[in-house]
Amino acid sequence: MRSFCRRPNKMKTQIVLPEEIQTQTAVWQAQHAPITIEPGQEPLYAALIEELGEIRPLTGPDYQRTIRKYSRKGLPWLGKSDVLRAYGQLCAAGRMEYDPDLVTHIQKKPIRSQAGVTVVTVLTKPYPCPGKCIFCPTDVRMPKSYLRDEPGAQRAERHGFDPYEQTAARIQALEQIGHPAEKIELLILGGTWSSYRRDYQEWFVKRCLDAINGEESVTLAEAQEKNAVGPRRNVGLVVETRQDEIDADELRWLRYLGVTKVQVGIQSLDERVLALNQRGHDVQATRDAFRQLRLAGFKIHGHWMANLLGATPESDRADFGRLWSDTAVRPDELKIYPTMLVPNAELYEYWQRGEYQPYDEETLTELLADCLAQVPRYVRVNRVIRDFPTTNVVAGNKKANLRQIATQRAEAQGRKLRDIRYREIRRDKVTRADLHLQVTTYETDATTEHFLSYETADERLAGFLRLSFPHPDAELPLPELAGHAMIREVHVYGPALNLGEDSQGEAQHMGVGSHLIHQAKEMARQAGFGKIAVISAIGTREYYARHHGFAVDGLYMTAVLRDA
Ligand code: SF4
Repeated sequence: MRSFCRRPNKMKTQIVLPEEIQTQTAVWQAQHAPITIEPGQEPLYAALIEELGEIRPLTGPDYQRTIRKYSRKGLPWLGKSDVLRAYGQLCAAGRMEYDPDLVTHIQKKPIRSQAGVTVVTVLTKPYPCPGKCIFCPTDVRMPKSYLRDEPGAQRAERHGFDPYEQTAARIQALEQIGHPAEKIELLILGGTWSSYRRDYQEWFVKRCLDAINGEESVTLAEAQEKNAVGPRRNVGLVVETRQDEIDADELRWLRYLGVTKVQVGIQSLDERVLALNQRGHDVQATRDAFRQLRLAGFKIHGHWMANLLGATPESDRADFGRLWSDTAVRPDELKIYPTMLVPNAELYEYWQRGEYQPYDEETLTELLADCLAQVPRYVRVNRVIRDFPTTNVVAGNKKANLRQIATQRAEAQGRKLRDIRYREIRRDKVTRADLHLQVTTYETDATTEHFLSYETADERLAGFLRLSFPHPDAELPLPELAGHAMIREVHVYGPALNLGEDSQGEAQHMGVGSHLIHQAKEMARQAGFGKIAVISAIGTREYYARHHGFAVDGLYMTAVLRDA
């Protein structure tokens, strides 16, 4: 067990699961038993299933809307596996006819699987956050900033916030609906990760890996070793923290845990707005955190907020522009979160006193359309609008599909959208001949970034790689990375197929990833780097070792670049 980055005051303790969690486990098991269709509700279930069968394609929002409609009529909130189990029971009882196409149609999880990786989201236990941000909801039953009735939060609470139970249940649920879970990105949410005790963090990650591995390990290192060669691999580990928590020690700790991506709330790049909203840090803190994260190879996922206290639509447009014009910021991924006014945030009192007003839907749509059109081609906009259940929103926008509306607005205005998510090929069939390599180069305050991508003629993305060259004078937070180019991300699109399955024509199996890595090594060699590092997740180590000559080297994997 490595010991270099322990905080002396954070002693390891054995976490004993309370009885409550054991009870909740029993509840979970009960939930996976045959669904109880209350007498008289059969026609309602049948109508729901038929309606879902008619919506093609069945998008996530379509599904949610339909379920919501039937929950108002008296059905419980049903996940897809519940619907499928109810369908099976109704067919077995002779009340519906079995149609395998309908099952496949309902099973489909197009967006989740199209990035080639299954995302499993888990929440940490309720815990305070050092931040005092006035827009952030507080619910003592939840980790800071989460509402109890958010879908992910409900799931976590049902499992007593136990990492093992949450992960195992999610994998089981996904596999139950025919969704392969061999490549898992673990998304750990909840307040500020770095403010939890380190022994809790280590235990939490180990228990998630235990669930992925399907067996227990004594230490985190053992769980990681098993995962590196196991049937289900952890191919990404994401945590969320504050910018003022990032320093060299924290970076080492995050790598020790196996973290590959960090979510940071930028929220604003306007000092006045940051202060008014009591963020407790300045813009420079964001710049410093991003520089260190980038130099250590992490993928940087920023959150940016519109409509904060003190902002106007005009100031928001200018602020959004600073995400890209300020070379020290430039995140790799972004969530755009217009402030949502909820009663259990301090901002609510400002609103009651008439000191804060949410934008109306039209103003917000125009603003978001303008923002989306500004996003550079190397950035993925993962989400627009926080998925708070709209019943919690006191005033302002209540539309959960505002991204779609804003995208359509921007398209109607003839504006070009270039963000990664907009351009992913998803399930489209492409051949190698359809793709060409494109290199987009941009500067940050400490690195030159090369965004290598394989794209079709109409700029649809089959895969990309983020290659980072630290500036010669950059002060490296982790000195062992001196002289190394860094691969921060390799991403190939296509469904999350199990290893060995055939996927003719889909990008994952065309060697797009290998071509990108080969190209990155060549570019690094030509730029004079003697070594190249990759911030590999535990579960991708074998791939880099076997196919690309990398070897585990401290907290990273590295390869020597030889002269041609
Ligand atoms: S730092 Fe994040 S979680 Fe903490 S109070 Fe601020 S917004 Fe909420």
